[in-house]
Amino acid sequence: MKVLVLGAGQLARMMALAGAPLGIQVHAYDVRSHTVVHPVTLQDYQQDLAAGINDCDVITAEFEHIPNDILVESQASGKFLPGERAIRVGGDRRLEKQLLDRVDVANAKYKVLATKADLQQATTEIGLPLVLKSALEGYDGKGQWRLKSADDIDTVWAEIETFLAESSANQAMVAEEWVPFDREVSVIGVRNRAGDVSVYPITQNHHENGVLSLSYAPAASAELQQQAVDAFSKIATELDYVGVLAIEFFDVKGTLLVNELAPRVHNSGHWTQQGADVCQFENHLRAVCDLPLGSTELVRPTAMVNILGCDYVDSAAHALAGVHLHWYGKDKRAGRKMGHINVAASDQEQLLAQLNRLLALLPEGDFPGLKDASQKLA
Ligand code: ATP
Ligand code: MG
Ligand code: MG
Repeated sequence: MKVLVLGAGQLARMMALAGAPLGIQVHAYDVRSHTVVHPVTLQDYQQDLAAGINDCDVITAEFEHIPNDILVESQASGKFLPGERAIRVGGDRRLEKQLLDRVDVANAKYKVLATKADLQQATTEIGLPLVLKSALEGYDGKGQWRLKSADDIDTVWAEIETFLAESSANQAMVAEEWVPFDREVSVIGVRNRAGDVSVYPITQNHHENGVLSLSYAPAASAELQQQAVDAFSKIATELDYVGVLAIEFFDVKGTLLVNELAPRVHNSGHWTQQGADVCQFENHLRAVCDLPLGSTELVRPTAMVNILGCDYVDSAAHALAGVHLHWYGKDKRAGRKMGHINVAASDQEQLLAQLNRLLALLPEGDFPGLKDASQKLA
């Protein structure tokens, strides 16, 4: 089997690494250079999209902000999973919200904004504070504003108008209620062509400046897991979804509210490489290649630490049992996702102890907020 991934970043790379032992070849279409590459070696195959599509059995995606012409061409091949619709829903907060309402899955109150008057109205309909998010192209907290007071409407809207003017014609803003969450969690699940669904244990996530910094599992009661599984099943079934799908939630006093969807493998599922029987990358490939799904059972408690903007970790980390480094082979840039570290242990107490040993090796400056976040594991 040959799988072509739209996007040639670390997610395609980890799919390729997971596919190798199964004899699944993964190629990646780099949407910036318009060429097909090997996602690990970055060898250039000198193929354009049409040749890449012709040459593969299945097309999939590692991100949801795919240019329209590429989406349409991929869909027309009949090889694209989870397919154009799921990617469009994941890439446009308006469609995402409509879908959540249609399948009756709880999410934060919202209003789509076109004008300043709409924003004014949102402050009375929804209340303050509000989070204002761009409908398209949002990731890592980019394209977001916080409105705390009605006095700031003019200033905030002026910034948004500049942003909208520089954005695509189809861009808009979505105002969302500020959710007073107790914590953020996500669920990663997989659905195959026959409609079978398998869901990993809920993961708890900590963000620093809008970017994921720490995830760990297990992190929820059976009751909360059931809420997540129900939401996953409703959404995946409605989309006739094939592949791995991630759902981010706010946990508000034991009730899950959906924050957003990611129609792909997800950063908060990287722990499955060491903590689950079959990792999210392999399960995604199994689903899109129409192989039986692998177990999503947790085999040992596991945490994941993102390596952001730095390209060095003390090699003593390798000496810690259960600690696994995953570098993405990228050039260093401030804030860039350069790799991650999984820490797995036989039980939660051991996990916390091992995570603390790892954190002692990581400079606070490169890993801000991690020590505080790890306290919450206890
Ligand atoms: P991602 O990289 O996860 O795709 P994104 O840019 O799509 O990020 P969101 O997940 O919508 O952004 O928001 C980023 C973070 O901002 C959330 O993880 C959460 O911490 C905070 N946040 C977003 N929306 C709300 C909200 N309505 N109430 C409270 N906090 C919020
Ligand atoms: Mg997002
Ligand atoms: Mg998010």
